[in-house]
Amino acid sequence: MTIKKPFENFLKNLRTASETAQLSDAALAGLEAPEAIHKTEVVFALDSGEKMTVPAYRVQHNSARGPYKGGIRFHHEADLDEVKALASLMSIKCAVVNIPMGGGKGGIQVDPKKLSKSEIERMSRAYFRWGTEQGIFGVNRDVPAPDVYTTPQIMAWMLDEHEKVLGFKSPGVITGKPLELGGSLGRSYATSQGGFFVLMKYLEKIGKKPEDTTVAVQGFGNAGAYFAEIAHKAGFKVIAVSDSKGGVACDCDSDAFDVNKLSAWKKEHGSLRGNFCQGETCDISKMKSENVKTVSNAELLELDVDVLVLAALDGVVHAENAARVNAPIILELANGPVTPEADEILEEKDCVVIPDILANAGGVTVSYFEWVQNRSGDVWEEEFVISKLKKVMENAYADWMKMKDQYDTSYRNAAFVLGVNRIVTTMKLRGTI
Ligand code: NAD
Repeated sequence: MTIKKPFENFLKNLRTASETAQLSDAALAGLEAPEAIHKTEVVFALDSGEKMTVPAYRVQHNSARGPYKGGIRFHHEADLDEVKALASLMSIKCAVVNIPMGGGKGGIQVDPKKLSKSEIERMSRAYFRWGTEQGIFGVNRDVPAPDVYTTPQIMAWMLDEHEKVLGFKSPGVITGKPLELGGSLGRSYATSQGGFFVLMKYLEKIGKKPEDTTVAVQGFGNAGAYFAEIAHKAGFKVIAVSDSKGGVACDCDSDAFDVNKLSAWKKEHGSLRGNFCQGETCDISKMKSENVKTVSNAELLELDVDVLVLAALDGVVHAENAARVNAPIILELANGPVTPEADEILEEKDCVVIPDILANAGGVTVSYFEWVQNRSGDVWEEEFVISKLKKVMENAYADWMKMKDQYDTSYRNAAFVLGVNRIVTTMKLRGTI
């Protein structure tokens, strides 16, 4: 089993970029250390009346380009190291897509699956009350959003708590809200749509058409399932998908899955595999008649496909399994799914990794659009949101390719250099370095 070290991984990538871009020691030091680390213990009542206490964090990495921006995650592994890494990646990501925001991230170290809805509400409100009373969150200061296991409903509770403390309305303090409370049209699938736009540009460059491109998707949640649907609609052959319980692959030569049917299975059975298998016992005749075979998550990563989409967890492609990845293109919709050690192995195999700080930046881009709408009191039409997203992603793609050519470096490092240079420019203009 590999030990996760997300902040160390971030620092490795940052230092490589710093060398390429020949940053000064002061600039590198300014990017290595988050500007602020806020820690607390959130206390809330369980349904039984007992109190529960959980560790919680908000890390504010860099605000040279604008207010801190980044999600809040509820997960038992969301420790300070992970939150620091994610906050730092957010600064670089916002700069890569050139939106005027900095980077932050929040986390509560808890297993939300063990809590009831009302317990989650009390915990969410307590966390946001703390952040508001401490002056951490604010529409021009730090603007959170959903992340793993946090939802638009949770954003609504947090907004409500914030406004109760302030005594006035401030919808732009948090994004990813329900539409009725100022959420943006298009936000739910923005991450996947943004990744799709970037992938299309890359495929155009290498002359590959969607109908000739097979795809496997690890992670069939928000990012992965929307991506599979968008890709399927555009004519890609989605031939394997997985969730935390395992995966299914198409046992077919020229055909592919009907992704909409897969989404319906998932909704009905709770897991993709659950449509065919109860535990280890699978209905072989049903699988045969539907041209389906089961695959483990490890097997999915090694399938002979054109594009492997990583949309589940960090660190899933690492030093031990990278050599067995067969896909020539990886699209990182998840944050940090490929470790720096794996990057080196993949590069030797000429596997192109479209890195998270570009591939999944569509989510924060539309979050930024939501913030703009909230501050101006405007409501944009969905088509307008998506056309603006396309422009942002395609501009970022072009800037990324320029860096790649200019520095003759890896795809990930080119994206890091792009983001880092933009942040350092604003730090210099402010006179902080
Ligand atoms: P989610 O909770 O909706 O979905 C995660 C999916 O991964 C679920 O289907 C789960 O079953 C699956 N999964 C969990 N463990 C797995 C495993 N070992 N193997 C295969 N599948 C597994 O979360 P999400 O919002 O889709 O986020 C997924 C990743 O994308 C995270 O890294 C997140 O930070 C990143 N991301 C999401 C967004 C967004 O807008 N949703 C934006 C940027 C980055």
